[in-house]
Amino acid sequence: MATEAKIGAAATIVSHNPATGEALAELPCATPEEIVATVQRAREAQPRWQGTSVSQRIDVLRRFQEQLRAQRDDVARLICREAGKPAAEALATEVLVVLDAAEFCIRNAHRFLRNIPVPHGNIAMKAKRGHLVREPYGVIGIIAPWNYPFSIPAIETLGALVTGNAVVLKPSEFTPLIGKELERLLLVAGLDPALFHVVVGEGPAGATLLDSPIDKMIFTGSAATGRRVGETAARRLLPVVLELGGKDPMIVLDDANLEVASSGAVWGAMMNAGQTCLSVERCYVHRSMYEPFLEKCRAKIAKLRVGNGIGSEVEVGPMIHERQLRTVEVQVNDAIAHGARLLAGGKRLTELGSSFYAPTLLADVTNGMRLMQEETFGPVLPVAPFDSDEEAVRLANDSDFGLAASIWTGNRSRGEAMAARIKAGTVMLNDMISCFGIAEAPHGGFKQSGIGRTHGELGLQEMVQTKYIDIDLAPSIRKPWWFGYSRQYQEQMGGFLDFLFARKLSVKLRGALRSIGLFRRSNSV
Ligand code: NAD
Repeated sequence: MATEAKIGAAATIVSHNPATGEALAELPCATPEEIVATVQRAREAQPRWQGTSVSQRIDVLRRFQEQLRAQRDDVARLICREAGKPAAEALATEVLVVLDAAEFCIRNAHRFLRNIPVPHGNIAMKAKRGHLVREPYGVIGIIAPWNYPFSIPAIETLGALVTGNAVVLKPSEFTPLIGKELERLLLVAGLDPALFHVVVGEGPAGATLLDSPIDKMIFTGSAATGRRVGETAARRLLPVVLELGGKDPMIVLDDANLEVASSGAVWGAMMNAGQTCLSVERCYVHRSMYEPFLEKCRAKIAKLRVGNGIGSEVEVGPMIHERQLRTVEVQVNDAIAHGARLLAGGKRLTELGSSFYAPTLLADVTNGMRLMQEETFGPVLPVAPFDSDEEAVRLANDSDFGLAASIWTGNRSRGEAMAARIKAGTVMLNDMISCFGIAEAPHGGFKQSGIGRTHGELGLQEMVQTKYIDIDLAPSIRKPWWFGYSRQYQEQMGGFLDFLFARKLSVKLRGALRSIGLFRRSNSV
């Protein structure tokens, strides 16, 4: 958390290990003037970078990828120490996905940045050839959350850089060291330091970055902050991508594999101590399997090893901060007060430290409960029964959010048919979350879960402006539609429209005859 070091001096952020409370480092916050100057520095350097070949930019990404691969354990340990997630999980859900995203950019940047011909069918324009050019925006601002403090900003940064942008990143105030680690890896890879900057600070630093002369903002965080970011950006028509919260439903149909689905539910709800945007925030199970499913989940949750994630066997680490713990507590207690059945957890694990919450299983929840409507973001698996596919779809769509969903079934076509009816940016069949690890798969939400996409080709598309270049192949000819209008011109143009668009052949032919002379007008100005 940021603290005023002393009156009149720059604020600082003290980074903590959420498992132990240990202070890891104290970093000075960037002042508003420093943030604006940083953006200016990036702006000045960016045209040089845009002028380099795609191969040169890819070379930097290759070296970055190699550095990260070689130093993966150190990076994973740092993620564990500052964000709390088990180091093994950091390797799989942060380092691996960044290596894969780098590979995607390395393999696809040339193709993506190639000019794209735009064939057209208008014969009046046949002497024109058009193509699309993808140009970088300039300086991309990135504001990142703490829950995937490495992979989220890294994936966005790699896409921005390979397409020729400069980047200014404001990491979460809870994970500034991981933001700095990304910077270190990029600099070791040979990136010009003027092209990537980390500005450390709390929310106001993000607000200053948003107000600074950046060309686009890629924001990831809560829906509440995202709304404020969207409003501010709208005032100056700054393009934004908003990757916001979720309330992802898991639907277990009556033909699902119970053993696999219950393991999936436990991992999906508890990994990263439940602090994952793509996750299992709500679980709906067909009534015919409801009690056996609950029993399997209860038994599997009882086996989870909770503790400081630096231990290689730990599966569930601490939560990031007290405010997040309180949110979980309030929602769980509210659900119990409204009739939910507590089958596991439901309390803090104070014997482990001040930030641990026990993996929690709740049955008989209803969509009216806060736990089923608000983002929980903690190690909680709330389960409710349903009786028909129709009801499952209605319950799943009964949410302001629409980030992702999962459907568990032994029948693929049944699952696909249901997926088409779910209002979410991603629907997975028989798995959840893991598509975040497919670099080609776009990531983003419907409804309050956001605007725009990151990852894959759609993510690269967010980093560029598309320009249409039109080349006239008959530069010595004045165009027949230019000035010099007359009754004759009007008749010829009418005939030409019939020739182009009339469905009846006789009208088409008469139109062709009437339009003769249109392209040889002598009276154009
Ligand atoms: P948050 O909204 O509190 O903060 C996110 C970032 O915004 C932080 O860096 C913060 O300092 C900054 N910020 C705060 N106020 C700001 C302001 N007024 N202007 C500009 N920036 C400001 O979110 P969080 O607690 O860090 O992250 C958790 C949330 O992020 C959850 O809701 C989660 O679902 C969401 N999330 C979404 C995705 C996704 O891809 N959709 C991924 C990860 C996390």
